[in-house]
Amino acid sequence: MTAFEQIDGKLAVGGVPVDRLAERVGGTPFFAYDRRLLTERVRLLRDTLPSDLQLSYAVKANPMPAVVQHMSGLVDSFDVASALEMRTALDTTMPANRVSFAGPGKTDAELRQAVAAGVTIELESENEAARIATVGSALGLRPRVAVRVNPDFSVKGSGMRMGGGPQQFGVDAERVPALLKELAGTDLEVLGFHIFAGSQNLHAETICEAQRRTVELMLRLAGDAPEPVRYLNLGGGFGIPYTDRDKPLDLAAIGANLTELLRDEVRPRLPEARVVVELGRFLVGEAGVYVTRVVDRKVSRGKTYLVVDGGLHHQLAASGNFGQVIRRNYPIAVANRIDQEPAEQVTVVGCLCTPLDLLGDNVTLPEAGVGDLVVLYQAGAYGLTASPTAFLSHPAPVEVLL
Ligand SMILES: *Cc1c(COP(=O)(O)O)cnc(C)c1O
Repeated sequence: MTAFEQIDGKLAVGGVPVDRLAERVGGTPFFAYDRRLLTERVRLLRDTLPSDLQLSYAVKANPMPAVVQHMSGLVDSFDVASALEMRTALDTTMPANRVSFAGPGKTDAELRQAVAAGVTIELESENEAARIATVGSALGLRPRVAVRVNPDFSVKGSGMRMGGGPQQFGVDAERVPALLKELAGTDLEVLGFHIFAGSQNLHAETICEAQRRTVELMLRLAGDAPEPVRYLNLGGGFGIPYTDRDKPLDLAAIGANLTELLRDEVRPRLPEARVVVELGRFLVGEAGVYVTRVVDRKVSRGKTYLVVDGGLHHQLAASGNFGQVIRRNYPIAVANRIDQEPAEQVTVVGCLCTPLDLLGDNVTLPEAGVGDLVVLYQAGAYGLTASPTAFLSHPAPVEVLL
């Protein structure tokens, strides 16, 4: 939270104090992302992870075109999950062969676009593999694919589990050898494997364990691959702290584990493989704030409410309704009084006519009133993109990158 600058007692994004930024944007609420923080986050990963490990940005975490453009100069590849995300990625300088397209339910129309673009399709089922082959023949092109594997293990401690047991994601590990045999008879270029076991994990040891098992499984499956394996996407799931109970991830431990895995396991056996971790939240989540303005201050039976002009329709996650089991407050501050001492306990609510629109429950803040700016931190990932913007029919917020 302290990564953002303070200027004259105000929170600043990209060197611009928030009150001035609100004028520049034309009003509140809005999202502001700081490119310096994005750049620094990539640098931290480059410094900590092995140098022959590549970094992919999972665009769904924040698909704002300017953010994706900025990331294109920093990371090695993009992972997209829809045709529009693919177009956004291809509008940057990132080459098509460094874009991968994952996700269940890809339509034939999306597969055609992906094959025509020359991106790598991370295939999610046997049926999808057959449809990609048909699209390839129709277009006279050789589709580039990687097999997304639903592993035979699952990762504990993830905010969202996306591997192990029955899943809509990927091909069950035990069925992959048979699929690879079938793929050998088709005109698909099989580059390698993709395993994504879960999201928002703050336990380095669990992530290390998942990576060890992922590499072990991939090396086992590589024996059945129709051509030399050139691509191993180990997933990611690196979490960020959202509440005062969350401890930041021990990135150094993950770096050490990956260095060992690459040196001792992957390089001796698959020297040509491009090894990738794909991260969304960890890259962009902490580089964004959601800025709102206090519209009303009221006391109801002894409880003080600050009512702001934003809400869960823009920043669902902060209301606790996006993947949280027990609601906990996201970090919150009065941005134009950032240097003032906490003075009172208030409850910050949004402008939607539902009790779900709770942004800060009994939080201690400097005394604030109508016109003050309240910010929610950790809004750079799964903020606007994961929120029900049509709910209550308020206008969409502006997003700016500074
Ligand atoms: C969503 C997603 C990611 C990014 O997850 P984060 O938790 O944001 O890092 C990576 N890979 C795949 C396949 C995804 O679906």
